Amino acid sequence: MGEIFIPERVYNTVMPSRRQFLLAGVAGPLIAATPKYDLIVQGGRVIDASQKMDRVADVAIYGGKIAAIRPRITAAGTSRTQVIDAHGMLVTPGLVDIHAHLSDPKLPPGALLGDGVTSVVDGGSCGADNVDELVKVVQSAPNRARILLNISRGGLSGGKELLDLSKADPVAARSAIERNREWVIGIKARLSRSAAGENDLEALRKARMAADPLRVPIMVHVGNTASPLPAILALLRPGDIVTHMYAPAPHGMLDDNGRVLVEVREARRRGVLFDFGSGRTEHWTWDVAERALAQDFAPDTISSDMTLAGRSDQVLNFPNVLSNFLTLGMPVENVIARATANAARAFPEFRDYGTLRVGATADLAVLEVRAGDFGFVDNYKTRRTGRRKLFATTVLVAGKRVS
Ligand SMILES: [Zn+2]
Repeated sequence: MGEIFIPERVYNTVMPSRRQFLLAGVAGPLIAATPKYDLIVQGGRVIDASQKMDRVADVAIYGGKIAAIRPRITAAGTSRTQVIDAHGMLVTPGLVDIHAHLSDPKLPPGALLGDGVTSVVDGGSCGADNVDELVKVVQSAPNRARILLNISRGGLSGGKELLDLSKADPVAARSAIERNREWVIGIKARLSRSAAGENDLEALRKARMAADPLRVPIMVHVGNTASPLPAILALLRPGDIVTHMYAPAPHGMLDDNGRVLVEVREARRRGVLFDFGSGRTEHWTWDVAERALAQDFAPDTISSDMTLAGRSDQVLNFPNVLSNFLTLGMPVENVIARATANAARAFPEFRDYGTLRVGATADLAVLEVRAGDFGFVDNYKTRRTGRRKLFATTVLVAGKRVS
């Protein structure tokens, strides 16, 4: 029995009326009755940039997949369909955070589920010498967790991992990726002075040597680097990711007059992605973000750079990070796109996520936009008050409610 597909599970056995049968048409389903669903998320504003959707609708889920999105979906009379009331809420794909840190046992990937984060990428916590432990963590995570391997063999190791350039080992990195190819989906190189000293460009060249034969992207952490940003961008290829894009001078993305550098625009044109990467120290200011946004240079993706320390300072949770952009005046649908469809598109491994397309895995978040006076801070403790803040209220992974 177990393997046999039972149509009753999908459709009521009630025979269709002649009218229903005719309406179903020649190419329509054989039995045109009310479909059964496991779960219906009702009445929310469905925002899904992957299919340019932004409208009030119901989302029906069956067998862990998105089964339908329509204005009114009714559950079959006798079915045990679960209903989640999302009136007044946003219904989005499960959030995708492409830069977080997952190696601290006190902050496992599953801890982020309650924030709506159903897919998450560790941004270089570990290197070739210690990644196997982290692979075990992501393998057993209840959300879709993947890893960017630090080009330095020991990973972060106190944050000075590239001061000794001999630790950047492309051969070791390549073999670590090859033995964990399903879980390690790219390379991370942290290039700020505190991590790499004067070695930024040379370390990035080593990252290239590891990444290129395997055709995986490199995420570079910029801000306060020894080399100017254009010199770093010159070494990046389409699909590579610049995180901490709104880091202030020295060597940020703006010139002395606050204009976005031509080299930065040129890098975007050829397919280099720019990521927010909130974090807590030296990674962004309201001023840089505001000037860049005013010049139409928004992030491709918004990420948290979440750490255990960030959990209680500045970063707090992913919806809080996203809410910074509401405070900066970005429309909510554009904010959501950058934490769902855009973020999933950054990695081929996330192709089935960040979307509510019919047939896709039903990772979904119900978000509330609360109105009030909320405090937000940049990495230099400059405070701003925002009038709206996002909160995750319900989270589904493969159609199962996890929060
Ligand atoms: Zn990071």
